[in-house]
Amino acid sequence: MPAPPEATTIKDINGSPEQEAYMKCLIEQLTITPDKLSRICEHFKGEMTKGLNKEGHTLAMIPSYVEGRLTGEEKGNFLALDLGGTNLRVVLVTLEGQGKFKTVSTKARISDTLKTGPMRDLCDYIADCIDTFLTEQGLEDQETELPLGYTFSFPVLQSKINRGTLLTWTKGFSCTGAVGKDPVILLQDALLKKHLPVKVTALVNDTVGTLLSNAYNKPDTIAGLILGTGSNGAYIEQMDKIGKWQGGKTAFPEMIINMEFGAFDNERVVLPLTRYDNKLDRESINPHSQIFEKLISGMYLGEIVRNVLTDMMDRELLFQRSEGFDAKTASKEISVQWGFETSYMSNIEDDSTSNLSRTKEVLDTNLSIQNASETDCRIIKRVCELVGTRAARLAGCAIAAIVQHCGVNEKGADIGIDGSLYEFYPSFEKRTYQAISELMPEYPDITKVVRLGLARDGSGVGAALCACVAARMEDIKSKA
Ligand code: ADP
Ligand code: MG
Repeated sequence: MPAPPEATTIKDINGSPEQEAYMKCLIEQLTITPDKLSRICEHFKGEMTKGLNKEGHTLAMIPSYVEGRLTGEEKGNFLALDLGGTNLRVVLVTLEGQGKFKTVSTKARISDTLKTGPMRDLCDYIADCIDTFLTEQGLEDQETELPLGYTFSFPVLQSKINRGTLLTWTKGFSCTGAVGKDPVILLQDALLKKHLPVKVTALVNDTVGTLLSNAYNKPDTIAGLILGTGSNGAYIEQMDKIGKWQGGKTAFPEMIINMEFGAFDNERVVLPLTRYDNKLDRESINPHSQIFEKLISGMYLGEIVRNVLTDMMDRELLFQRSEGFDAKTASKEISVQWGFETSYMSNIEDDSTSNLSRTKEVLDTNLSIQNASETDCRIIKRVCELVGTRAARLAGCAIAAIVQHCGVNEKGADIGIDGSLYEFYPSFEKRTYQAISELMPEYPDITKVVRLGLARDGSGVGAALCACVAARMEDIKSKA
């Protein structure tokens, strides 16, 4: 088994004995050895099974009501609607078969007034946007209703492919008259009032959308992952393994499960949490929850690095170069929560200059730190490597758990991944593969067996495919 290639020694830091002692201890805490990795993976698989069999476990393992697999031959016009961040996006997706598709889309900003006002106003606004878009596309007088897949990225308890209840708002939304209601019905009412030829046929979770968008041209797709602001995964499960299913007989023997794996090990049984992670958790808006997500996703990695760096500053182990220079007062930015973004880690890790001039530049432009020595920069780069490597290895652990849970056949497995962290963080993918290969040593070339790939636009193409699957299920049920 190959050893983890990086971030295991301190000899090249060339710091003071105190700095080296600190780094040695840090490396021990942040390195996930193959042995630890394998224990985490075993626990992960056990939690998956628990969540499939009973409600209320840490891994929620939510049935998505999306049944069966895609063939790539799905065809037709579908709308997709994505609500969940700063923008509202409407997409017209034309599925052409053979895994090919075309999209046209429009974006609109959601004002703070709409985000916090009555839900009816927000739905009327969405209906207006769809109306304008249909007119632009010459589809306003469609004879048949266009099916719409609605990616609604808030916590929803789903009860059918196009039915669910909003549990609570997140991300700055707080519209009145929505919690406890079905977002599909509220939107459909607004569309009806305007006599728009659109029917909301699917309520889509973004991981499920990511899986579907990858599966349309890669039929051996078994899972979709989000590695962006947050992280989560979805995979295709056999109905007979979903012990808690009470929805009666399904049209297909398989269903996509939304794992909600960001909550994995909230009870802290296996994850090697450090005090830097504990600090982040305690100061977050959701302490004690989403622990796994907090170790692996874009919103948090920079903050963990910041926690290490500020601790080193307090111990006078960083930025000590010039007499009278006090980094704590010179850089306000580094003292502020979330002041160190995950994208800085990407830039710092990407620095291959011999004197780490790019790292210096990142510190200077983003954090007003002008006094970093080369040793400081080597330390900071190493801290980024440690936190970034741990994240990628844990993501790999989740992937290996899914693949092993599902079993590997001769065709191997495709995994679609969406999110800026996976897309832009250098070596994230390489490190993820490294972890998977340690967990599955029986495969000499893991990249041929577990094929990771960027799957963009789960909330566009993925949602449209979900609407398409919904229509297929409806069709089968009406004939049954
Ligand atoms: P979302 O998950 O909200 O759909 P993204 O997939 O774009 O959005 O992920 C945004 C997250 O990715 C942010 O938390 C940000 O810190 C992180 N991110 C953005 N750019 C980079 C980068 N170059 N390297 C690493 N992380 C990045
Ligand atoms: Mg996204």
